[in-house]
Amino acid sequence: MIRYDLECDKEHSFDGWFSDSASYDKQVAAGIVECPICGSTKVHKALMAPGIPAKSNTKSANQPVMQNAPNTPAAELTDMIRKLRTHVEENSEYVGPRFAEEARKIHYEEAEARGIYGEASIQDAKELSEEGIEVQPLPLLPEEHN
Ligand SMILES: [Zn+2]
Repeated sequence: MIRYDLECDKEHSFDGWFSDSASYDKQVAAGIVECPICGSTKVHKALMAPGIPAKSNTKSANQPVMQNAPNTPAAELTDMIRKLRTHVEENSEYVGPRFAEEARKIHYEEAEARGIYGEASIQDAKELSEEGIEVQPLPLLPEEHN
């Protein structure tokens, strides 16, 4: 028996066992080999690509986030990223890594209601959201990726 790593045309990965490579070819040609995820019979051997680094774990990395000022019209937020970014920077207070703390203070009325932006981890954003505090990712401008 030979085990092949297979992939369908929708890039689902799965494996299949065949008695030999000829029987693999025959079964795929006959449309017997199905992707277990989507049922596609357009399967092929997955390319082995050693040396590709594992996906970087970004869970602990801080992401730029913001909380809207209460009076910010929604329409303005659908505008261009640049305008949004500029708008946020001009109308919100940068609180940096204290974002989660400040967002809570505002939510629990321990601090003046205002727009703030800063950095929070995905975990922070999740916890804030569970407390009913909506935060939004602040899009980065393309040139910042250079
Ligand atoms: Zn599939």
